[in-house]
Amino acid sequence: MSLHAVRPKILGFISEDVSAWLVALFVLVVGGVLTGLLAWSTLNLFHQQLRQRFQLLASERYSRIEERFEDQEQRLDGLRRFFANSDSVAREEFDGYTQPLLHRTQAYSFALRVSRAERAEFERRVRKEGVPDFSIRELNADGQLQLAAERDEYVAVLYSQTQSKLGSLLGYDLAAQPLRRATLDRADQHGQMAVSQPMHLVAIEPAYARGVLLVAPVIPRKSPDTKPYGYVMAVISMRQLLADGLPEAGRDYLSVRILDLSIEEQHEVLYESPNGPAVSELSATRLLRLADHDYQVDIQPSEAFLQANHSSVSSLVVLGGLLSLLLSSLLYVLVSQRQRALKMVEQRTQELRAREQELRGTHGQLRGVLNAATQVAIIATDLRGVISTFNAGAEQMLGYSSVEVVGHMTLENLHLPRELAARSAELSARYGKPIPTCQAMLVEGGEEGGHEAREWTLVRGDGSHLTVNMLATPVLDEQGLWVGHLAICIDVTERKRVYEALAARDLLLKKLSAHVPGGIYQFKMEFDGRFSVIYASDGIRDIYELEPDVLLLNAEAIFTRIHPQDTTRVRASIRASADTLSPWREEYRVQLPVRGVRWVRGEATPEELPGGGVLWHGYISDISDLKRVEEELRALSITDSLTGIHNRRYFQERLTTEMVRVERGGGELSVIMLDIDHFKRINDQHGHAVGDRVLQAVCERIGNRLRRTDVFCRLGGEEFMVLCPDIDGEQAYGLALELWQGLRSSPIDDVGIVTASFGIASWRADEGADALLLRADSGVYAAKQAGRDRVQGELG
Ligand code: GH3
Ligand code: MG
Ligand code: MG
Repeated sequence: MSLHAVRPKILGFISEDVSAWLVALFVLVVGGVLTGLLAWSTLNLFHQQLRQRFQLLASERYSRIEERFEDQEQRLDGLRRFFANSDSVAREEFDGYTQPLLHRTQAYSFALRVSRAERAEFERRVRKEGVPDFSIRELNADGQLQLAAERDEYVAVLYSQTQSKLGSLLGYDLAAQPLRRATLDRADQHGQMAVSQPMHLVAIEPAYARGVLLVAPVIPRKSPDTKPYGYVMAVISMRQLLADGLPEAGRDYLSVRILDLSIEEQHEVLYESPNGPAVSELSATRLLRLADHDYQVDIQPSEAFLQANHSSVSSLVVLGGLLSLLLSSLLYVLVSQRQRALKMVEQRTQELRAREQELRGTHGQLRGVLNAATQVAIIATDLRGVISTFNAGAEQMLGYSSVEVVGHMTLENLHLPRELAARSAELSARYGKPIPTCQAMLVEGGEEGGHEAREWTLVRGDGSHLTVNMLATPVLDEQGLWVGHLAICIDVTERKRVYEALAARDLLLKKLSAHVPGGIYQFKMEFDGRFSVIYASDGIRDIYELEPDVLLLNAEAIFTRIHPQDTTRVRASIRASADTLSPWREEYRVQLPVRGVRWVRGEATPEELPGGGVLWHGYISDISDLKRVEEELRALSITDSLTGIHNRRYFQERLTTEMVRVERGGGELSVIMLDIDHFKRINDQHGHAVGDRVLQAVCERIGNRLRRTDVFCRLGGEEFMVLCPDIDGEQAYGLALELWQGLRSSPIDDVGIVTASFGIASWRADEGADALLLRADSGVYAAKQAGRDRVQGELG
């Protein structure tokens, strides 16, 4: 079944084959979209909450302003009624009434209407009442109070209760100032409270000077239709009224602006918060009424509000983005690791399958080997010695079937009991502790060092005995634990027999070779040219003065004994014998430490070996004596017995050799031939014996004058020949003259002067040995013809 078919999907929907990058990218995109959606809904919620919070704050602020406006109205109305209900109000009463009211109001005043005629009297009366420098005053162009100009009517401040440290405005004529006057007129007109337009309040600290004047006409209760005789006023600083009790400007969440709507198309600002509005779509607008004026209250959020209510969307986006990134990275790692792990699992599975296949093959091979090894008994046992494997070879060797042995018999059952008992006793004695017979065949013989095969006698199924070579080894499992034994037995009965037969042969060979002069040997040349000695009899010791054992180890030692002049020849002949597989036969000298130089003869027959080498079976004998006799015979065969110089045979041999030399490589070669003159007469006169002596004497005289390189031969009778290598005809002529002179100048005892006739011939490129000799002979003949006793120069 394919591995792909059973692969689970990652997270249930991602296929294993999808690249880890794709998965990570997909998760990143999904995470991004989800973060975006969440951010969007959070932003919506935030805006909604912000709006609600703002509306709440704005409503509260508006209520507070409205409440304060109403409070102002009510307090002034109370003062008005205080005046309306009293016939007269003393200054102390006024002060007493208004003192507690000076809360969020800069000042309360009472102004009395005074006509031009009443002015002087009025001023005097007031001064008398305790205001010493009282007079009706007005503001000049510089804003300073001065005595009021003459007018029909004044509305002068009579009582005043103020918070201002700038003092009261007693005597100040309200009618002198248009704005104030207009306010008074409106109050008169409607008989109700009126409020001035926003103005700069006089005698108030500059910070609080912006405000309005709230005026209420005082009409006696008893005569309601008459003109008001005076006015009560509240001097209201807008800053004091609105900002009192609020947090400082920087921390106020709202920015408030109040517009006076009473004057058409000119909405004057009555009040504006010191903190400006922030840029925002949030705003609230309400209408408010104070006395006879309408006001528009604009409320907007300040920077402080926005800062205190900032959105968490950006951090949410960052967090969401980070989470998506983290998740996608995690998934990438997860998917890629899982894919890698799966790939590894697949690879391992394939490896394991291959191993399993291999093991199956090996197991089959092992079975095959066990069954095919019919010449080897392979027996495995468990730790108790009970046989668990009994191969075909064992069946054949021991005559039991595997079925009757496996699980029923032990290795001990197969052994000869008395042999086991003996071995057990031997081992027990060696190790100093009892070794049971069932383990005697398994314990290693310390003296044999490790797993050595040992000969045992086994008992066949039919009771007969069998000698085997048995190697017993422990069987270990893959953890290295000992789980049993393996015994491998080889039938050595035949081998033993062969071995004994061979030993008998060896002995025979030894005895035989001991009685043979010389040595017999087996010599081998490997395919790569190396020599080795396979066998060497004791006789070899005398031949080379080397121990046979040394030769078996090092065949090259032989060549250290061979005479240096013969080594190359011997090696060459061995190779030639190997190349042609022809019998080797060589005579050569050996240089022995004790006996010096000896001649030996080797003879061997080669035999080609299957690996490319050659094996020789041979015999070497000492032929020094034979050689000596041979050399003596040789010397005799080339020596003239009468004169002791070389004979004709030798001359012929040397001439042939020298001819070959000059024909091959050039150079010079000459012959001098001589014949004793009238030798027959000497014989006749002195007898044959004297003739012989003359021959010897002539040879002695000629021989003394020759060089070592010259070859002096007796051709026969009284004819002689001198072979002179390396000299030309002219030189030979000189030598012949010398010889001739030497001979004729030294008489021979009893005979006197003996002379000879000389002929010369030197080698010519185009002629053979016979022609050369003929020319020399012709020279002698010519000398004889010319009267004998002379040297005939070389003939043309
Ligand atoms: P010519 O000057 O012409 O050479 O005269 P010749 O006598 O030397 O010549 P010839 O060849 O006729 O004689 C050679 C003689 O040498 C004949 C032979 O009896 C003698 N002679 C040959 N061999 C021997 C020998 O070994 N010993 C002795 N004593 N005489 C020998
Ligand atoms: Mg002669
Ligand atoms: Mg002669």
